[in-house]
Amino acid sequence: MIIKMSVNVTEQEISSVAERVRECGCQPHISRGVEYTVIGVVGKVEAFARLEALKAAPGVEDVVRISHPFKLVSRQGRDTRTTVAVGDVIIGGGDIVVIAGPCSVESREQLLNTARAVRAAGATMLRGGAYKPRTSPYDFQGLGVEALMFLKEASEETGLPVVTEVMGTEDVEIVSEYADMLQVGARNMQNYPLLRRLAKANRPVLLKRGASATVKEWLLAAEYLLAGGNSQVVLCERGIRTFETDMRNTLDLAAVAFAKELSHLPVVVDPSHATGRRSLIPMVSRAAVAVGADGLIIEVHPEPERALSDGPQSLDFDGFADLILRIKEPMPGLATVGVTA
Ligand code: PEP
Ligand code: MN
Repeated sequence: MIIKMSVNVTEQEISSVAERVRECGCQPHISRGVEYTVIGVVGKVEAFARLEALKAAPGVEDVVRISHPFKLVSRQGRDTRTTVAVGDVIIGGGDIVVIAGPCSVESREQLLNTARAVRAAGATMLRGGAYKPRTSPYDFQGLGVEALMFLKEASEETGLPVVTEVMGTEDVEIVSEYADMLQVGARNMQNYPLLRRLAKANRPVLLKRGASATVKEWLLAAEYLLAGGNSQVVLCERGIRTFETDMRNTLDLAAVAFAKELSHLPVVVDPSHATGRRSLIPMVSRAAVAVGADGLIIEVHPEPERALSDGPQSLDFDGFADLILRIKEPMPGLATVGVTA
């Protein structure tokens, strides 16, 4: 951390800042330039958080952090990337992991049929909401424990590990009994009691980015999980809120590459919630893979026109099978970049 003092700083102000730095267990290194004096601070990240308040101290112009506040999530000082095992599926190991299934588990039949179809098409994990975070209290709220049982049954039959959302601390235990991976939804990304509880859960976590969260806030949310003892974390970009209204959200593709640059954690993309439009999902999925996503999470429903949630963004079985083929196709035009004939 560097503390930049103002041009007309006094010796008294410099020494009281240096004293505060020492009080917080850090070492101050004072450099006097022609115009500016700066104080380099060496110490622990916990102390830096307290020293940021020195922005308010007399004679201080700015306080700038050099190291990331998300020290466990950061790639700084690490040369290997994290891989996350969910059952026998490895996320971040090089293969694109495709997680597919309905937005909500609506019935045993709907879920089993979807699980069989997505497995046959090439999905490697199953998704399905049991506890649904719905904007309106009058919308379908999910089948709860009954849905968890259907998910378990579908997983046992197809061999696909399951990810499902957990909305509150009170549900972590029961959801962990039935699911292989616990999803933190966008609306809960900054629910710190939930993150702290999930840090103690014996399950990997899929952490969705909040609709209005910066990349750094997202990584700090992941830091809660790692700092609390759970290093099995996968980040999920699912679109952010912008001025665009024809699409449900705006997929922040650069954030996928940026999160991978800043962090060693795997990153997957959710083109379904990012666009809200089924027609866009194949091309957007290809773009996600092109920027380095480790996987995709896609909503699939036997009859999207009858879905109890998110029908317009859900692929039907044929659409999903087609998507899998499209992801594998070579990028049109790329082979001819730079060729002048
Ligand atoms: C979901 O995955 O069905 C969901 C509710 O996603 P998000 O939290 O990204 O809105
Ligand atoms: Mn959904």
